[in-house]
Amino acid sequence: MKLEDIGFYTLSDQRAESLSVISPMSRCEMILTDRCNFKCPYCRGMRPDCRGTMPFNTASAVLQQWLDQGLEHIRFSGGEPTLYPWLDDLVKMAEPCKRIAISTNGSASLERYLELMELGVDDFSISFDTCCSVKCGTMTGARNQFENLVYNIRELAKVTYVTLGVVLTDENVNQLANTVEYADDMGVADIRIIPAAQEGSVVRGVSSINPDILERHPILKYRVNNTLQGVPVRSIQWYDSHRCYMPVDDSVVAGDYHFPCDIPEGAGRPHWGYRGQHARGTYQVVGDSRYVS
Ligand code: SF4
Repeated sequence: MKLEDIGFYTLSDQRAESLSVISPMSRCEMILTDRCNFKCPYCRGMRPDCRGTMPFNTASAVLQQWLDQGLEHIRFSGGEPTLYPWLDDLVKMAEPCKRIAISTNGSASLERYLELMELGVDDFSISFDTCCSVKCGTMTGARNQFENLVYNIRELAKVTYVTLGVVLTDENVNQLANTVEYADDMGVADIRIIPAAQEGSVVRGVSSINPDILERHPILKYRVNNTLQGVPVRSIQWYDSHRCYMPVDDSVVAGDYHFPCDIPEGAGRPHWGYRGQHARGTYQVVGDSRYVS
């Protein structure tokens, strides 16, 4: 898949320039719960005021509002979204979307993921932070997950679009090239390297990644090129949130809050991006509240 067709992960100049206040909603993310069965040491969890599990009536009302505005791509995340009790209902509801994505730690059974595919999910983003079983236990805080994780990734990659998110910490950054090679061998569509601090810091060791692998994975290549040029992996700088037009077609809902977009300018702080008019707002599930109050 070409980088410009992915949409979920990148803000291109072309995309930003073609947006206006009447653009349809493109890509929205719903953070359904803070519950998770892993204990990744780098996990910051959610902001205290966004913690908990979103009630179904809130989630479905927000989703309906997005759908009414022409939503194209939806992502359900968490925490671990497969632990959310009404995930199936929301996936079914999202049927008009072009793509339905789940961000998961990969710990559910393959059967569960295939069930979600039956309901309409066609994009899985799975955490994969290391290429060995022992480190996997350290990185996830959960034992004996590696074999299940690898099995799920290999099987899902055969039947749908799968990307891996490799969160880089001091623990695993030295294995980056090996982890990327292992990920490539599992047949996934793409690999996203993510500095754990989420500050967009430059990633060490990217030059050791096999160039052939970069050619097969456009998001990986984009992020590696950014870091080689000394800019953050997503190429978004902290000040970009002041002039970022993503808010007009890209939203995140977590807890009672609506965020203009999910590309953090700092560690978990909310955005104030939309023309600098607000820091954040309470999401109203009635009326046209696409822009926060
Ligand atoms: S899988 Fe995600 S939500 Fe769960 S502990 Fe790890 S980073 Fe946090």
